[in-house]
Amino acid sequence: MFFKNAEKTYLAHLDTQGVFNNTTKTALPQTAFAETVRNHFKNLNGKTPKALLIGFDGARADAMHLLCESADEKVTGVLFNSAYSAVQTLKTQGGLYLSFAGGEPSAPQETSTAQGWAAILTGVWGGENGVLRHVPLKKEYPTVLRELAGQGKKAAFLAEWPDHFTVTYKDEIEIAKRENLPLIFQKYADDRALESAFLEKIAGDTDCIFGIFEAPDYNGHTTGFSLENPRYAACVCRLDNVAYRLMEAVKSRPTYEKEDWLVMITSDHGGHDRRHGTQKPFDRMTFIASNKPIGSK
Ligand SMILES: [Zn+2]
Repeated sequence: MFFKNAEKTYLAHLDTQGVFNNTTKTALPQTAFAETVRNHFKNLNGKTPKALLIGFDGARADAMHLLCESADEKVTGVLFNSAYSAVQTLKTQGGLYLSFAGGEPSAPQETSTAQGWAAILTGVWGGENGVLRHVPLKKEYPTVLRELAGQGKKAAFLAEWPDHFTVTYKDEIEIAKRENLPLIFQKYADDRALESAFLEKIAGDTDCIFGIFEAPDYNGHTTGFSLENPRYAACVCRLDNVAYRLMEAVKSRPTYEKEDWLVMITSDHGGHDRRHGTQKPFDRMTFIASNKPIGSK
């Protein structure tokens, strides 16, 4: 791929040692997310498999540099490696990986919300799952949530953007109802309501909980996708704390010792200026934080 100077600088910044377990050259396709969830629920170690899956819509990969200290960080006094950081905790337990949206370079697709989450949840790109544009997911490509529900696991999709419910997952919602699957799709007004819903599901008996917070995308579109924008930077840090509280709620379950939880955080795309969707690395590069190592790279 041909990159301009600002793009090269961005990739070099992401490759600064100490933050990510891999490099921009070995970045995982965002489709690796679904595969990791599938494998987790196949793992029979005597404990009950469970999953807490958290989406930060529109969080750029470089925002992880606000949470984890890079090897050449020169500013002291920054609250890196906070004991209350979800990403830092997951990185210590499993890993923090660079991932990418927008398809393989040979078959690019838009770095947009519907396309991103559909690739993340099905484990295949839009060329297969059908979400290359703003259209419903193909029925032959279930989300990992529907697969688990088909195996009798209780799964929940929690989100705010109306189009998830009226476009991308419209048919999947109908299938889940028709087949009486233990899969629910629930819409919330804002990140605060979503956080409460997560806590309610964590305290209940849902096996696989997935939800998407909107603050980074919303702030990016209104005031700019950039760490130079305090609103954008602050909301990624705040969501990192929200995710930490959700992880603490998981640990406080009375049955926690008998359960094996996979916890992952990811974003669907990055952004630049007040937009995303292009093949620029600012838009393409995303991250996956996981409490279990992903792949062998
Ligand atoms: Zn998005």
